[in-house]
Amino acid sequence: MDIVKSSISFIQDYYNTREFIPLHEPRFRGNEKKYVLETIDSTFVSSVGKYVDKFEVMMESITSTNKAVAVVNGTAGIQVALRLVGVKSNDEVLTQALTFVATANAIKYNNAHPVFLDVDLGTMGLSPVAVNNFLEEHGELRDDGCYNKKTGRRISACLPMHTFGFPVKIKDLLDICSKWQIPVVEDAAESLGSKYMGEQTGSFGKIGVFSFNGNKIVTSGGGGTIVTNDRELGVMAKYITTTAKKPHEYEYVHDELGYNYRMPNLNAALACAQLESLEKFIDAKRKLADNYQMHFKNSDVQFRTEEKEAKANYWLMCVQLNDKKERDAFLKYTNESKVMTRPIWKLMYKLPMYENCFRDHQKNAEFLEDRIVNIPSSVK
Ligand SMILES: *Cc1c(COP(=O)(O)O)cnc(C)c1O
Repeated sequence: MDIVKSSISFIQDYYNTREFIPLHEPRFRGNEKKYVLETIDSTFVSSVGKYVDKFEVMMESITSTNKAVAVVNGTAGIQVALRLVGVKSNDEVLTQALTFVATANAIKYNNAHPVFLDVDLGTMGLSPVAVNNFLEEHGELRDDGCYNKKTGRRISACLPMHTFGFPVKIKDLLDICSKWQIPVVEDAAESLGSKYMGEQTGSFGKIGVFSFNGNKIVTSGGGGTIVTNDRELGVMAKYITTTAKKPHEYEYVHDELGYNYRMPNLNAALACAQLESLEKFIDAKRKLADNYQMHFKNSDVQFRTEEKEAKANYWLMCVQLNDKKERDAFLKYTNESKVMTRPIWKLMYKLPMYENCFRDHQKNAEFLEDRIVNIPSSVK
């Protein structure tokens, strides 16, 4: 395929190197060193310090939410978010099979059952049609919420994920879930800065969760954030992620099972500096996306772009090949040329711990699984 060859050259020229080109690497060109050194000089590297507070205020401002809570990583954030919206042992949580494993793991950590529903072809995220069809067939509204009348279990949350920073059809999902009294938690781990109809992803659901892992658009080394517009829920999130400790002058009083999920000040310092560059990173990525789009135009390889209601952060960019065979050829030649590319995730029900979970037909998820490949997306 000529397009593979020309794509390798295009990427090498863009990053101006013939050495190994990773999928995504962080950039530290602002106040990162200054802020991190400040935490060391002040000795406040751990569980308290001004950067945690500053980071939370910055996140509230960026996402336009009422309360942001810094946590140790995105997975822990989703786990706690599900518990806070009322997910209990043996409940069911509606989600997509086309996702990173953390989404499903966070459901399992609550001893709940993931229900894997198909994704939308355009967004690669949870399909409102699939959710609606599932609930029409299985759902039953009772006094205390929605139940799956076939399994007898409560359906206590819906957890869509904004794949690679492309927003899901969140308004349609909210409409359907509200009709069935199911709270929505957004796995916005990949979509910091992405917007749907002008508003930030992560700010639509009852709770949204972001990741600041090293491979995300901005990083704290490791970390996450819970955001919500429900102030009371936000206060609860802070409380149970910081060991559920009652304020007291000197005694240790913990009145429920809490977690030590707080983000250390050292990591928050790095995150604050990174957030200062978020807009710049998004601009650079959207320019690269334009260049990629031009490059792949009139070829057999489709560069994936945002839908019209969406403004994506283009965190991790991807192309769609015609079939699995072409995908494998693309993966082989690019990686052999030291240009890193990776297939999209294996669907969750193909992993041993999720193989017995309920799933619908998965037509779109299976189609995308065979064809989507991530390509280098770092800011230059
Ligand atoms: C990265 C990621 C997470 C988990 O975030 P961590 O901070 O690595 O725990 C969750 N869901 C999705 C979709 C992710 O990409």
